[in-house]
Amino acid sequence: MPTNEKERNPFKIAQMQLKAACDALGEDESVYLLLSEPERVLKVSIPVKMDDGSSKMFTGYRVQHNDAPGPCKGGVRFHPNVTEDEVKALATWMTFKCGVMNLPYGGAKGGVVVDPNELSQGELERLARGYAKAITPIIGERRDIPAPDVNTNGQIMVWMTDEYSKLRGVGQTLMATFTGKPVEFGGCHARREATGYGVALMAKEAVKYKGLEMKGQRSVVQGFGNVGSYAALYLEELGSKVIAVSDVNCCLYHPDGLDIKALMKHTEQNKTIKGFAGAAKEMDREDVFKVECDIFAPCALENAITVDNADDIKAKIICEGANGPTTPAAEKVLLDKGIFIVPDILANAGGVTVSYFEWVQNLHSFYWTFDEVQQKQEAKMIDSFNQIVEIMEKGYDMRTAAYMFSIKRIATPMRLRGWF
Ligand code: GLU
Repeated sequence: MPTNEKERNPFKIAQMQLKAACDALGEDESVYLLLSEPERVLKVSIPVKMDDGSSKMFTGYRVQHNDAPGPCKGGVRFHPNVTEDEVKALATWMTFKCGVMNLPYGGAKGGVVVDPNELSQGELERLARGYAKAITPIIGERRDIPAPDVNTNGQIMVWMTDEYSKLRGVGQTLMATFTGKPVEFGGCHARREATGYGVALMAKEAVKYKGLEMKGQRSVVQGFGNVGSYAALYLEELGSKVIAVSDVNCCLYHPDGLDIKALMKHTEQNKTIKGFAGAAKEMDREDVFKVECDIFAPCALENAITVDNADDIKAKIICEGANGPTTPAAEKVLLDKGIFIVPDILANAGGVTVSYFEWVQNLHSFYWTFDEVQQKQEAKMIDSFNQIVEIMEKGYDMRTAAYMFSIKRIATPMRLRGWF
C-alpha cells in the first residue's frame, strides 16, 4: 500500500478496507459508493452548567452510517480526541460489525469531545442529558439505538434513557432506545462482560484454528478499560496466562501470569493499574508491544499498532478488542510476518451482539439469565468466525474476508430496496 503508508485518518482507513473487500467481491460500483459515506452526520453543541456557576459548551456528534438492514446501532464515546472523521469511521465499522454478526441493524456512532475525568458527577450527568436531548430528534428504538463506548457506562445510559423518555413525553420509559444499561434498569446480564468475553472467545477460536490449545498460551492485553479488563479475565479463565497488561500510565508484567481479578479490584480503587503489588515488573506503557507472547489483544483506541511498532510485536495471534487499532501499513507488516489477525469487526462484536439481546428483551419485557446470554453470544460468534474462515481460506486475509462476508449482508437489502 505504498501511497497510504502514513494513513492514520480512521475514516480514510475504513474506506480503504471497504474498497479492498468490494474489489475482492467484484461488487457493483454503487455498493462502494453507497457505503463509503455515512447517510447522516449530526453535529451538536451542548451547553452545560458547571458546578462553579459558569457555562461550558461541548461539541458532540451522532453519525448514522447505514440503515438498510434495520435501525442504526452503535455506542457513544466521551473522549478529548473525538473528531467528526473518527465518529464517521466508527459508525462505518459498526455497519460491518452488525453485518458480520448477522444482526438486524445498520451502523451508527456518537461522540462528545470531553475528558470526563475533568468533570464532577453532576457535570457528567448534565452533559449526558444534554447530549441525549441534542440527538433526540434522530434516535429511537426503531431508528437508532445508542450504547456505551470508550468512557461511557451503564449509569450514563440510564441518564440518557431517562432524559429521552421525558422529552418524548409518551408517559413511559423507552427502555429499548439505549442498550448497555445496568441489569437493575432494563439491562441485560453479561452485557458489561460481553465485548471482552468475545475477544477471549475469538482468540480461543484462532488458537484452535492453528491446531493449538489455550492452555499455556501467553496473552498480552493493551488497555485495561471495560474491554481490556474483561478480555484479560476471560483469556485467563479460558486457560491462557496473561503475562502483561497496560493502561495509559504503565505496563505490568509477570512471566507466570498476572492475577486479573486482583488487578481489576486494584484498578477499581486506584483508577489505574499502576502500583499493583502482584506484578513482577512495572514498565513503560509502550513496552507492552515488545513483550514476547502468543496472543496480543489491543483493547484501547485506534492506531495503536503502526509501522513504528509493528515490528516489535512478537505474537502468533492478534485479536482486536479496540476498533481500528491497526493501521493498514502496520497490518501489512504483521501479515508478512505470518501473524493471524482476528479483525475488530469480528473480535469485538460481542458487545453489540449482547446489546441486540438486550434490545430484544426490552421490546418483549422478558429477561434471560447470565448463562443463557453467554451461550447465545458464544454460538453466534463462533458461527461467524467459522463462516469467515471459509472465505479466508480462498486466499484472503481475515479482515478482507470479514468485510466480504458482511458486505453481502448489507448490499442485499440495499439492492432489494432499490437503492442502486
Ligand atoms: N461500543 C461498542 C462497539 O464499538 C458497542 C456498541 C453497541 O452495543 O451498540 O461495538
